[in-house]
This record gives sequence, structure tokens and C-alpha cells, in this order.
Amino acid sequence: MDKTVAIVGGGPAGLMAAEVISARGAGVDVYDAMPSVGRKFLMAGRGGLNLTHSEPFEKFVARYGNRRKEVEKWLMDFTPDDLCEWARGLGIESFVGTSGRVFPVGMKTSPLLRAWLRRLDEAGVQFHMSHKWRGWNADRSLKFETPEGGKNIRADAAVLALGGGSWARLGSDGAWVGLLNQAGVKVEALKPSNCGFDVAWSPHFRDRFEGQPIKSVVLTFGSFRQQGEFILTKNGVQGSLIYAASAWVRDEIYARGNAIIQLDLAPDKTEAQLLEKLSKPRGSRTLASHLEKTVNIKGVKAGLLREFVPKDDFANVERLASSIKHLQIPLLATRPLDEAISSAGGVTFESLDENLMIRSLPGIFCAGEMLDWEAPTGGYLLTACFASGRVAGLGVLKWIENMETAV
Ligand SMILES: Cc1cc2nc3c(=O)[nH]c(=O)nc-3n(C[C@H](O)[C@H](O)[C@H](O)COP(=O)(O)OP(=O)(O)OC[C@H]3O[C@@H](n4cnc5c(N)ncnc54)[C@H](O)[C@@H]3O)c2cc1C
Repeated sequence: MDKTVAIVGGGPAGLMAAEVISARGAGVDVYDAMPSVGRKFLMAGRGGLNLTHSEPFEKFVARYGNRRKEVEKWLMDFTPDDLCEWARGLGIESFVGTSGRVFPVGMKTSPLLRAWLRRLDEAGVQFHMSHKWRGWNADRSLKFETPEGGKNIRADAAVLALGGGSWARLGSDGAWVGLLNQAGVKVEALKPSNCGFDVAWSPHFRDRFEGQPIKSVVLTFGSFRQQGEFILTKNGVQGSLIYAASAWVRDEIYARGNAIIQLDLAPDKTEAQLLEKLSKPRGSRTLASHLEKTVNIKGVKAGLLREFVPKDDFANVERLASSIKHLQIPLLATRPLDEAISSAGGVTFESLDENLMIRSLPGIFCAGEMLDWEAPTGGYLLTACFASGRVAGLGVLKWIENMETAV
């Protein structure tokens, strides 16, 4: 195929597009702002690379919320099982963890990325690092800033796979939002997703409990209810349970200025059981020791009660039992986008056709986290990034094949 395609952004989405396109013989050049590709992908493997999830497809696609319809189309053609099969093709077996999450054996990204880059290299894909995309010239060539100065690149088609706006030091800084806006493409503002929140801790509480985990609590927020754990930080809260609720909490904060989550600090006991145990005579025990001995509330959980329950309520067992089951914690703001695991917002679906080509910029496709969808952690982010990269790659092939027929 006598055509060249530029892939801008060498994360999971861009590399998948490069694989699909190069497999059909088109010339593919990958450009990335960083000195090497896949930096966020590598970071994702730091704490154990959660590639995808093993739950039934119906449940899996529901994780994309109000973007389910669009994302499901991508996933029908590249399912979570296909993703595991693809990784196996690169020599990486995967396994299902106790939570149903799927990880590569060894948990790390680097062996998979190494094998993948080798395959792309063998397919003739050319990599151009430290090339920061800066938009288009009047003749529609792509404008790059490189250590050797500005470069203009012409290609028959391009895939933009520039990521979201979090962890900018890994390359995806969201600077593309302004460039696409200037080109008339509708982009929803990037927002933190799977993010932490600020809480106005008292200095005493912060000094004592910063960095400590809260384990086995149930978090309720509106219709969200889940058991899990999270971490108390200097500024507030973060961690898996908080991330799981974060989209709803964020939207409430944006709409009303704050959001109140509710914690059940003793999910293994009913309120009546707590009441019965707390009503036992305390004798000479301190209240702290009574709480620990009777209902096993101690340490950071006891600290949280002290932080948010009025002093008088500690003298009233009904109110104390109720506070343990329904502790209200006001969250004041989202932590900054840069700290979030992922971004919500991005290129709107109405700007794209079913091949992920920007309707107003023929020949320019988009993929990955830069599109306007979000999902919780659990492997849903990477799965949709890979699958959308594949859709954009196949879209490019159709586009350049049509160009060839037209000639
Ligand atoms: C700490 C952490 C842990 C994570 N763990 C998981 C996990 O276990 N499972 C999971 O599913 N997801 C996880 N994620 C999310 C996942 O890594 C991302 O959703 C995914 O990498 C997005 O892929 P992408 O290809 O769309 O974008 P990215 O991976 O962000 O890649 C975008 C690329 O574009 C380049 N780029 C950006 N702007 C320009 C420009 N102007 N010019 C040229 N190049 C540019 C960047 O340098 C980058 O290489 C995690 C994220 C973080 C931060």
C-alpha cells in the first residue's frame, strides 16, 4: 500500500492503531512528545497492570455509563477475551485475580510493551520520539516541535491518540484540547476521573492519620454503595473505593459546591447489634477503650468518628451507633486533574463518525482516553483504549483504500 499514516501519541491506543494499519502494509510513523513511548502504560504496571476484567460482557459494558452505547461497539469487535488472546500472541499469559480483574503473569507492563514494540518494528513502523504535535499548518500538514526545531509532516491520514490530561509528566498533558478547539472540533473540558477529593481535616487528625488506610467500610453516595478501602491523605481521601464513587461525587461537587459521602465503619454488624454492645456497662474504661472492646472501633476509624461526630453524641449510645453506621464526610473539591488516574471529557462523539474520524477534518482519526468517555478502574480504561485504537486503525485503512480506488 503506497500510503503513509501518522500516529500521534504512542500510548496503548496509538500503538494499537499502528499495529492494525501496519499489518496491511501501509507506511506507519509514530510520533510522541516524550523520549520513549508508552510511559503511562508502563506506570499503570507499577502497582500491577490490570489489563481487563473477567466479568460477563453485559456487566463489563455497563461500566461505561452513559457512553456504553458508543464503547460497546468498539468492544464487540475487540472483547476483553480478544485482548487476553492478543497479549498471549505477544507471549504474555494473563490470569484472573480474586476480584475478577485480569492481570498479565508477572503483573508488569514492560515485557508486554517490549514484545509489542518488537512486533511493530518488524512490521516496519517508524518511531519518532521527542516530537511534540503543535497543530496543523494552512496546507494541513502536521506541525511538530522537536529538539532539532520545527518539522512539518505530510501524511495521507493521521490518528491522534494523545491521552487525557492526568500525570502530565508521562506525556499526556491535554494541550491538544486547545489545538482541536481552534480547529473547530467540539471537545468537552477534561475533568478528573478516578480521582481523590479534598477534606478539611483538623490539623490534629491530619498529623495523626495521614497516609493510613481505612479498611472494610461501605461507602454510600446516592445509589452508589460499595464495600472496600481507601487512604487518608494530607489533603483528603484517595484510593480504590473513593475512585469507584468519584464520577458521581465529582459531578455533585461541580453542581453544588460539595458532596457528602456516607461511611459504614462496621459493615459486619447491624445498628441494633452495635447499640446492644455499646450499651454494656463501661465501668472504669475510657470511651476509646469501650469502643474498641465492644465494637472493635479503634485507631483511624475511631479518629474519623472524633473528627466528624459532635462531642455530645459520644455520650448517647443511639447516636453513637448511628454515627458508626452512617458517618457523613463532606468532600469539598476534586483533587487536581494531574493527580487523577484518568480523565473524563474529551473529543465529543458527535464530532466523530463510526470509524472515529473527525467529521470536520477528513482523514484525521482519534482514539483512546482523549475521547469523551470514562470508566472506573478495573481494566476498563485500557480495554477501551486498545479497542478504540483498533477501530481508528481499521477506519484509516478504509479511508486510504477509498483514496486508492478513487485514484
Ligand atoms: C498510575 C496509573 C495507573 C493506571 N493503571 C491502570 C490499570 O491498571 N488498568 C487500566 O485499565 N488503566 C490504568 N490506567 C489508565 C491507563 O493507563 C490510561 O487510560 C491509558 O494509558 C490511556 O491510553 P491512551 O493511549 O489513550 O493515552 P496515553 O497512554 O496517555 O498515551 C498518550 C501518548 O500521547 C503522547 N502525547 C500527548 N500529547 C502529545 C503531543 N502534543 N504530541 C505528541 N505526543 C503527545 C504522550 O506522550 C503519550 O505517550 C492507569 C493510569 C495511571 C495514571
